[in-house]
Amino acid sequence: HTPTVDDPFAALNPQQRAAVEHDVGSAEPRPLLVVAGAGSGKTNTLAHRVARLIGGGADPQRILLLTFSRRAANEMTQRAGGVLQKTMGLALSHAPTTLPWAGTFHAIGARLLREYAGRIGLDESFTIHDRSDSEDLMGLVRHEIGLTQGQKRFPLKGTCLSIYSRAVNSRDPLELVLKTTFPWCAEWEAQLKTLFGAYVDAKQEQNVLDYDDLLLFWAEMAADPELGPEIGARFDHVLVDEYQDTNRLQAAIIQGMKPDGRGVMVVGDDAQSIYSFRGATVRNILDFPQQFSRPAEVITLDRNYRSTQPILDASNAMIEQAVERHAKQLWTDKHSSSKPQLVLIPDEAEQARWVCNRILEHREAGIPLTQQAVLFRAASHSAALELELMRRNIPFVKFGGLKFLEAAHIKDVLAVLRFAQNPSGRMAGFRVAQMIPGIGPATATRLLDIVSEAADPSGAVEAFEPPARCKEDWQQFVALYRALRAPGLRWPGDIELVKNWYLPHLERMHDDPQVRAADVGQLAALAGGYGSRESFLAEITLDPPEATSDRAGPPLLDEDYLILSTIHSSKGQEWRSVHVLNVVDGCIPSDMATGSMEEIEEERRLLYVAMTRAREHLQLVVPNKFFIKQQAQMGDRHVYAQRTRFISPAMLKHFEECAWLDAQTAHSRQPMPEAVRMLVRERARNAWK
Ligand code: ATP
Ligand code: MG
Repeated sequence: HTPTVDDPFAALNPQQRAAVEHDVGSAEPRPLLVVAGAGSGKTNTLAHRVARLIGGGADPQRILLLTFSRRAANEMTQRAGGVLQKTMGLALSHAPTTLPWAGTFHAIGARLLREYAGRIGLDESFTIHDRSDSEDLMGLVRHEIGLTQGQKRFPLKGTCLSIYSRAVNSRDPLELVLKTTFPWCAEWEAQLKTLFGAYVDAKQEQNVLDYDDLLLFWAEMAADPELGPEIGARFDHVLVDEYQDTNRLQAAIIQGMKPDGRGVMVVGDDAQSIYSFRGATVRNILDFPQQFSRPAEVITLDRNYRSTQPILDASNAMIEQAVERHAKQLWTDKHSSSKPQLVLIPDEAEQARWVCNRILEHREAGIPLTQQAVLFRAASHSAALELELMRRNIPFVKFGGLKFLEAAHIKDVLAVLRFAQNPSGRMAGFRVAQMIPGIGPATATRLLDIVSEAADPSGAVEAFEPPARCKEDWQQFVALYRALRAPGLRWPGDIELVKNWYLPHLERMHDDPQVRAADVGQLAALAGGYGSRESFLAEITLDPPEATSDRAGPPLLDEDYLILSTIHSSKGQEWRSVHVLNVVDGCIPSDMATGSMEEIEEERRLLYVAMTRAREHLQLVVPNKFFIKQQAQMGDRHVYAQRTRFISPAMLKHFEECAWLDAQTAHSRQPMPEAVRMLVRERARNAWK
């Protein structure tokens, strides 16, 4: 391969190039770990490697690319396509279809399981439970085995699911999980064991899988002496991004498929590990070099291409304080005279106004909205900002918050589709039956019991006799059900059928049927992009499209819009300007995380992730008064907040500090009452000491 003038490989630095060229052409490429700090080009290097492999003759069908989100998979496929195009005049223009095995662990797991279902005793028509279905099933099972009566302090269904999930993903015994992560539930160990046993039985009876099962069954297949190598042999290359946020089960999957690590390349940054609450562990990175029968090569990158030096200085200074040291000092040649801003603001309403002003200033200065983001710790923290954005007509899209699919009417439509696919799934069935007027929980339960005992579940649905008053509505549903199960129906025609059946119910149940009908229409449009009902239901459950808060659908793609995102969902991305909201104690670190040192340290890494998303401008906003949602009995309230403990006085030299008086701009509202003003001023004066 000969470099040309706009050869994208020529732009790579020597370490990146070494990673891209690693054992290219060898029949047995050794395992490779790239461990490097934020913005050092890990993802970019991975994309170049994909391009290099395909350019060198690798079959895209035989490349497994595992990412943290579907969005990340698409972006990387596109990047690889761009590189290929430049170097070889080859186009991966329909990117997602040309790297057929790019996606999240869960989505790829679902596909493989569907394919191998028969071999591992699964029924291939299984449906997948999202988090809320899983919680509901846990609650139901808990009720059925009588764990609620007289046991008031027994953990809530959501907590039970978290404990179960943690045990599955970490591969640790329940006892240890309880001791280390849920000590307040440890007294219930025996009952939890019974509960989890019944929960697993219920899933199997109903032919449903939850998120954890997708990894668990995949890991089981991978560990199988026959299936493991067989699945492994389908792929010549297995590439994983964001490896620091994988868990034990995911590492086991890779190892099972590729015991000698052949063709395995993972990239990650231990300083950005932020998913340990889901069982992810940086041990995966630390253990990787010795995990396979052949030792892995390790490459580190230390040049940052994303951020200006002042932003890097501030981020480095912050992460340097970590208890577990991350021995990476990043450097860049992007000089800038402007330091990140640390902005002290009286309260969240002012924070919203100030952030809006700043965003508009940036836009005036030539930074489009899509190149700006506002990040926050929890999805609810952007409420005040969203109001202000709407008031000022600034379009935005929100990531990581309430999902489109969580709306009741969308869940209804999906439940009908799931029920048609798998009538044994009780969560979907329960929801569907009760959409029919006159059918309540008792009748729904009777239906589901009959179905679960029938040799032919589908026939049982059709033969069911509901109370006379709902006969007509039930018959209409059965007609739909038959149509949905009939062979030869072309996707996404199903959705149209469901929609027509559903509209009268929508009018009956809700007072804003038009808005909801529009959403259902949008779902139908979305469905068109998937090949089949199974793949639509699986993918949409695993990686739901994002909701927007200001309108029914996402803005048109060519429109300029601002990004709002939780810090967790901002992983791997970058913007020219980044605002971080509520950089106060109680928020980062979160009040809920103050339990152990590990949790606090994870919060520090979270702030590091947020800061290192910025390319040119970084604004950390510190509201002096901050609204927290508390436990029910105490009510919500405002608290006075302090700048986060992660920014120590010694670190202030890395920031340009502005108190609220400077931060206020001409657009702002009337002055605050004198008393508040004095208080704020007083606090502003002391906050920096
Ligand atoms: P994170 O840890 O946040 O995921 P990363 O290490 O994956 O970051 P990338 O997102 O791959 O970093 O790259 C950061 C930015 O640097 C991107 O805009 C990328 O295009 C750019 N970049 C990477 N390598 C080079 C290079 N050799 N020359 C020029 N720009 C580069
Ligand atoms: Mg990355």
